[in-house]
Amino acid sequence: MIACAVAPARATARASPPQAARADAEARRFEHDALESVFEKYYEAGSDYYKNGWRNEALWCFERATKVLPEFGGLERFVSLLRDFDNPVWKRKHWKSPRSAVDEGFRRRKEYYDLGYAQALLKIGAHHARKEDDPALVERARASFRSALEIVGGPYEVDASGSIVAGKAGTIPAAFSKRMLLEDLVLINGKRWLRDSMLRQLKDVSTLHEARSERCLVRTLTSEEEARRLLALLEQAYDDFSHAFGERPASRPLGLFLFVDRKAYEEWCKASENGARTKAAGFANGAEGFAVTFAQKGIEAIAVHEAAHLYHFDVYASAMPSWYEEGLAESFGGRHAMRLDAEKLTTSLRPTKAALAPLLRTGSLAVPLADLLHGDATARIAADDGSASDFYLESWAFYCFLTATKEPRLASRFEEWESFALGSRTARDAKEQDATQLFDRVFGGLEPLLASAFPEWIADPK
Ligand SMILES: [Zn+2]
Repeated sequence: MIACAVAPARATARASPPQAARADAEARRFEHDALESVFEKYYEAGSDYYKNGWRNEALWCFERATKVLPEFGGLERFVSLLRDFDNPVWKRKHWKSPRSAVDEGFRRRKEYYDLGYAQALLKIGAHHARKEDDPALVERARASFRSALEIVGGPYEVDASGSIVAGKAGTIPAAFSKRMLLEDLVLINGKRWLRDSMLRQLKDVSTLHEARSERCLVRTLTSEEEARRLLALLEQAYDDFSHAFGERPASRPLGLFLFVDRKAYEEWCKASENGARTKAAGFANGAEGFAVTFAQKGIEAIAVHEAAHLYHFDVYASAMPSWYEEGLAESFGGRHAMRLDAEKLTTSLRPTKAALAPLLRTGSLAVPLADLLHGDATARIAADDGSASDFYLESWAFYCFLTATKEPRLASRFEEWESFALGSRTARDAKEQDATQLFDRVFGGLEPLLASAFPEWIADPK
């Protein structure tokens, strides 16, 4: 046992009068009994590794132990402390680096303990699943089965009786498997996997194609070939993003999902509280970490544009004005800003006179500056009045202008505003209006200069 104060407090069953609470307590007791020995194994192994100076191995075991029985909160605190490697407490301890004999032993132990864990989860699931008339218990059964599948890892087979096979741990009862095959599992490139968070948002999708790398993930309803082609594109764009925005810390890949056509995309938008996006060519959900679009002409540019949104969000997580977000994404995936020669991608091409000409066709700006600064791309797309394309083009122009202007007052104010606005990322609930108001304040007094310098630059972008 380890010396730290992480002795797990035993969970006590709560007695409450109503029947539901009694059933709940009984279920918890059953789960606890089934999982206790599983917990002990991870915990003992973790303590051993800890005692012998194997930090990563100890961490893995303790993390699994807290997953098994989360109520052992003291252990969770210990794990976060242990993970905080820079804490001076650990400096005194001599940690060892990996050695192949330990690696091999650890691998076998992991496999063996995980098998026991998955078996316990299947047992719990089967126990709860018998109470068919108790919806809460049926849900718990499903959660247990799902966790068992997660522990053994996919892809999953189905046996002759229609039961999902959870590796060597056992099977899920056929009646339950039937439901889980529809709701929890999905066919990817012909193999069955558990739905991840992206696919839980796409409930009606049951079969799809996928191509993935460490950094990017493309899923399509069209073909695996198209998924691979778009993945190769995003991989190239990724290097450009990282050059422009710095390293992206998120552990999830940049995700892109492609419907077959606009109709399928629109149906999904309407059914998933994304009704405002139906008229768009696609959209990125930064918080979810993936973008949704559909097979269409110019899909390459759309894919790069949406991926730029996702990357930038993962780096800054800040709420920026619409013109800034779109201008930035367009500078990678815009029609004039990117080029694809024999699959080789070039982004961040500077605007030309000809590209920006539509913005001055009436002699003044296509979108008046105040409307650009306070406008919203999604609202313009939804309005469907033809003004959206001007908004995108002018956003790109304005972004390029401010990042390139030689006028020292504008350049320094922009830099000041940008770093303030991006730097407010810790306030994840900050509103776009905050950054817009900040822009108005920082550029206060320079409006006349901005109003003359920007159209002049559009007429001759340098
Ligand atoms: Zn966009």
